[in-house]
Amino acid sequence: MVETATTLVLLDIDGTLVSGGPAKEAFEIAMLAVYETHGAIEGFDFSGKTDPQIARELLLGSGFTDERIDASLPDLWERYLAELEARLIDEPMYLLPGVPELLDRLDAHPAVVVAIVTGNIVQGARLKLASVGLAEGLSIGGFGSDHEDRNLLAPVAIARAEEACGVTFARECTVVVGDTPRDVACGQQAGTRTVAVATGRCDAASLRATGADRVFQDFLDTDEVMRELVRGTMP
Ligand SMILES: [Mg+2]
Repeated sequence: MVETATTLVLLDIDGTLVSGGPAKEAFEIAMLAVYETHGAIEGFDFSGKTDPQIARELLLGSGFTDERIDASLPDLWERYLAELEARLIDEPMYLLPGVPELLDRLDAHPAVVVAIVTGNIVQGARLKLASVGLAEGLSIGGFGSDHEDRNLLAPVAIARAEEACGVTFARECTVVVGDTPRDVACGQQAGTRTVAVATGRCDAASLRATGADRVFQDFLDTDEVMRELVRGTMP
């Protein structure tokens, strides 16, 4: 099955596959515990940013130096993951409309490989996906723990998927799927096709303005979404 794969679908997590959950609260608690401030977190624009980028922007805004920030990032992630894991038990993420059907169809398609591109650090991504039963099938990807700059994450995910599958994916047969302009930019920078979905914090109009190849309101029309995602696949 994998030998014939020609399409690589790179999925974002928050706002694309799942929503809800206690991540913001867990992050706030961890920031207070480790840096004694969470900075100007109310009204902060999290969308499409990597976890380390979020921490750095909030802390630089509170007068911290990069050196001071970097010195305690390992402690921040340790505390964040502990808080996230504990809180997900009572407040799991939930799957967005159409996502279970879409993932089933992608999984069943003989020419498709699915991987993750997310700003979440890898262990946070696994905890979030595990809370909706998806961690097993979505283990390969590029994560916020690989690079602070989201634009560098698609190439990481592509390289890992190619290594895992033993195939090379043409960029026109690779598609980055996300819910923010930063997801679209990440795909455009990597030379992939881009699909955006308005199930996160960004509306369809703002996503269309990015020049994404296709914008969906949601993933409920599984047939149409599949047609778009496998468009570059050779017969
Ligand atoms: Mg997202």
